[in-house]
Amino acid sequence: MKDTVGFNTKILHTLTSYGQREILPPISQVSAFSYESMEELEKVFAHKSMGYAYTRIGNPTLAAFEQKVNRLEGGIGAISASSGMAAISSAILNVCESGDEIVVSRGLYGGTIDLFHDLEKLGIHTVCARNINDRDELEGLITDRTKLVFSELISNPSLMVLDIPEVAKTAHAHNIPLFVDSTTATPYLAAPLSFGADIVIHSTSKYINGGGNSIGGIIVDGGRFVWDFEKHKALAEFKKYGKMAFLLRLRTDLWENLGGCMSPMNAYLSYIGAETLGLRMERICQNADRLAHALDEEEGITVSYLTLSSHPCHEYVDKLLKGLGGGILSFRTGSKERAFKIINALKYGLIASNIGDLRTLVIHPASTLYIHSGKEETEAAGVFDDTVRVSVGIEDPEDLINDFREAVKAADSE
Ligand code: PLP
Repeated sequence: MKDTVGFNTKILHTLTSYGQREILPPISQVSAFSYESMEELEKVFAHKSMGYAYTRIGNPTLAAFEQKVNRLEGGIGAISASSGMAAISSAILNVCESGDEIVVSRGLYGGTIDLFHDLEKLGIHTVCARNINDRDELEGLITDRTKLVFSELISNPSLMVLDIPEVAKTAHAHNIPLFVDSTTATPYLAAPLSFGADIVIHSTSKYINGGGNSIGGIIVDGGRFVWDFEKHKALAEFKKYGKMAFLLRLRTDLWENLGGCMSPMNAYLSYIGAETLGLRMERICQNADRLAHALDEEEGITVSYLTLSSHPCHEYVDKLLKGLGGGILSFRTGSKERAFKIINALKYGLIASNIGDLRTLVIHPASTLYIHSGKEETEAAGVFDDTVRVSVGIEDPEDLINDFREAVKAADSE
């Protein structure tokens, strides 16, 4: 099928290889696969014939989900993982060894920042750019030991947007790939590979699944980066596979050995969830835009949302995000006490530590997601003591806006 069709048609009509006329992939809820002869299984293990041996290494339901997301992102292949964090850690460890460095943007999701501290203990050093879109700054941070540049496309929750074409240009000039966590942008707002990114990662626990029913992650390889095996020594053994080296090392070595595979049931649920991604994101972005503008009119509330002209990354909405602002907004209330009161007074905004659900979710990030991070890291992520993060859902917009207005009124009259 040509990729000239619209997003929703493409996502519903991805041709996947399960192909027994089922309209959805069967759930292969098995640990292992049996063979007629030992010779056949030997060939599968030796990668001389296609087949599944053991679900930690591969499974048809995982493959169906991987193919669907890969098609949306326009990659040469994808590997699913047990969580977004498993996807990020596997992707980084696939190309980095002790002594290597990675350059990352600041203001990333707190769990990813925590992972960088863990990587530090393994000898992989993280260098943090204050503004990764500033070419001079980025150039100054790249050294001979730098193996990749990593950033979120829309950072959660600071909502800083990665200028993919510019950052990719600088990284590529140094033979370094650009890894993009596109969880909050989703394939509906942008296909990072088409702008020059090399590896795209999602926490599928969020918008791709959408229903809040399973944790998962995925790594998609664009296949355009020309690996320099002298520089990327971690991939040297896979040199003969050329542009497939990254995926093959992951699939047959690192990802397989780390053991962070997605469960078949989660792959099935995420597959079904992904099919409504376009419709959900359309509604979520409309709701978020309306809620952001409505909250911005409230006394003593300062809203951060990409479609507001006051946002420092507003220019990227049209340049990279199809004119949409995504599903996350945050607002400052003046004090932690007022933030808590507003959150507690909400009827439809559920207090929960997640984003990308059908339902609107709210949290006070400073006392939860950033509890392990230092003040500087926390503030760099756009999180202050009075910040409320909102992951906007698909509720009727009038109900949502009224809920937040009433909550502010209730908090101020206490
Ligand atoms: N990346 C981003 C941008 C996130 O917001 C999160 C989780 O909130 C993750 C990665 C981690 O995903 P998971 O919780 O599926 O491990």
